Amino acid sequence: MPIHSLLLAGLLAAQSPDSTAIVHGIDRADLDTTCAACQDFYQFATGGWRARHPIPAAYPRWGSFDLLQEQNRETVRVVLEEAARDAMASGTRSAPASAARSAANKVGTFYATCMDSTAAESAGLSPLQPELARIAAVATPADFRREAGRLQKIRMPIAFAVYSQQDAKNSAEEILIVAQGGLGLPDRDYYVKTDSTSVAIRTAYVAHLGRVLMMAGDDSATAIGGATRVMALEMSLARIARARTERRDPYAVYHRMPLADAARLAPHLEWAEWLRDAGAPTVTSLNVADPDFFRSLDTLLVSVPLADWRTYLRSHLLAFAEPWLDSRWVAEDFRMESILTGTKEMLPRWKRCVRVSDNSMGEALGEAYVARTFSPAAKARALAMVRNMEAVLHDDLATLAWMSPATRKQAITKLDAFMNKIGYPDKWRDYSRLEVSRGPFIDNVIAANEFDQNRRLAKIGRPVDRTEWTMSPPTVNAYYSPGFNEVVFPAGILQPPFFDPEAPDAVNYGGIGAGIGHEMTHGFDDQGRKFDEKGNLRDWWTADDATGFQQRAQGIVDQFNGYTVGDSLHVNGKLTQGENIADLGGLKVAYAALERSLEHKTRASDAGFTPEQQFFLSWARIWATSTRAEFARQLVLTDPHAPGKWRVDGPLSNMPEFADAFHCQSGDPMVRPAEKRVAIW
Ligand SMILES: [Zn+2]
Repeated sequence: MPIHSLLLAGLLAAQSPDSTAIVHGIDRADLDTTCAACQDFYQFATGGWRARHPIPAAYPRWGSFDLLQEQNRETVRVVLEEAARDAMASGTRSAPASAARSAANKVGTFYATCMDSTAAESAGLSPLQPELARIAAVATPADFRREAGRLQKIRMPIAFAVYSQQDAKNSAEEILIVAQGGLGLPDRDYYVKTDSTSVAIRTAYVAHLGRVLMMAGDDSATAIGGATRVMALEMSLARIARARTERRDPYAVYHRMPLADAARLAPHLEWAEWLRDAGAPTVTSLNVADPDFFRSLDTLLVSVPLADWRTYLRSHLLAFAEPWLDSRWVAEDFRMESILTGTKEMLPRWKRCVRVSDNSMGEALGEAYVARTFSPAAKARALAMVRNMEAVLHDDLATLAWMSPATRKQAITKLDAFMNKIGYPDKWRDYSRLEVSRGPFIDNVIAANEFDQNRRLAKIGRPVDRTEWTMSPPTVNAYYSPGFNEVVFPAGILQPPFFDPEAPDAVNYGGIGAGIGHEMTHGFDDQGRKFDEKGNLRDWWTADDATGFQQRAQGIVDQFNGYTVGDSLHVNGKLTQGENIADLGGLKVAYAALERSLEHKTRASDAGFTPEQQFFLSWARIWATSTRAEFARQLVLTDPHAPGKWRVDGPLSNMPEFADAFHCQSGDPMVRPAEKRVAIW
């Protein structure tokens, strides 16, 4: 089941030691006062910040999130270097006095082997030779199935994705799911779009695959032929895949069926054997998220020559491994990344190693990270804020004019059942079954991926563990999980500019407050509203209320469809509707919470701004972002969030509270005409 975060997770993030003096609250230097607030609030509120923070060469995007992520990365580096020193000094076997100690040792070793560029250089491609030899020996469809399963076991999406998830209709049960996948480019749209940029990216991708195959030993004619056929195969997979917008409906990706029915859908898949090879436990039923995809994949398994499937396996294994091999491979990997993101230079090695350590073993370094950054007092304050916001949303639901009493009652039941997770897990992940070696590093990447896939698949058939976290503690992000009906805020985001105990209340409500409201609203967006208080996909809406919601949501879709990025890209209103609904709802709830808190306090202005103005300035400030054109394109196609500018100007132009705070008049660009203004929650 997807989680719904504040921004797209897993992107390359932040850099550059930024030595600006710390301002607690609104900093006038962030503004561009040559632009009127009612004209383009994003420019007014963030023009100064963006002018002072150009995108560093090694990043595809630069914004508040990235800058904070960069600071966290420095902290995590200190944690990892300490762990690495301990681990390398103690030897891997001697010192694991406790589980936590042993996990710290493992992540220390993981990081140290990542930093060992000498070992990577001397190893070259040799660590992959056994896998490459197995692939080269694929001579029958059964051989192919077995090797594809092996690679899926290390989380490579070969032909399709295999994982586990809560059963959407019974959240107490963890089940096996298979879904469309198998592509090398970031989205199926990269294959099906016909504009000149898409064509150029595909050409560059084929050239990349050709070089990869050549570096692995093919002569140039064989490599070019192989790359072309891999592209043709991926093109076929893309053509049978559904668009992201179609997959937003949780019912559209729920097709639980007996294994025998899946076998009828795609008889050449040999499901039981394939899933066993992919590491899944024996199951009698599963969710085939995209039945039409599997029906067509069945044809491809027969019609595409085995030699092409073999080259596909080989090129995907190489592309998966190349960031962690010797410098020739790393350079080739970056060459392709640069085409997709516009990034001009590679991140320094330690940053790449911090990132992969956090992604692979985030909870092993989380305890030490939290000890350095996140106090019990900060946790208590953040929790108090979440409770405040829940109380406001409760009152909002109780008085919402367009909703009938029957639906309202259910909505409140759902809100009352929300769980909150703040800072870090109560129970840390158990890494005892992960073997981390002294290198070469690619072996550890594979081991960590296999450990993670095993961990996920081992959940099938066991009681759902509601203490689990999806993001690591240093992550600058947050999420709502519909299956758990919970909002989760890692320690990484509970810092300035999102959350600053020294800043005025209004600034915190416009920052983390609106972020909390955003996550809570996900429980009631186009997807979240379809789940009940237990996290089950169940329709608890009256027909009239469902229509009322859809009409309002359509207003948001239409509004954002009207926005552009750069010269020619259009925001996808349908893809981004859930996030845009959450932004608008989150702002409304946070604003009401601010007003409530101001009833008992003196109204202090800060940097010449009223508390209400500070609130909106703070919201804009967290979305201050510059993005390279190449990466903006990738985000428009794949990211369910609108670009920063529209996350500011979009919701605020729907809010009379904003117009009042900045004395905007009807007719101003920041004031949408009354008949077009959207209010949902
Ligand atoms: Zn979100």
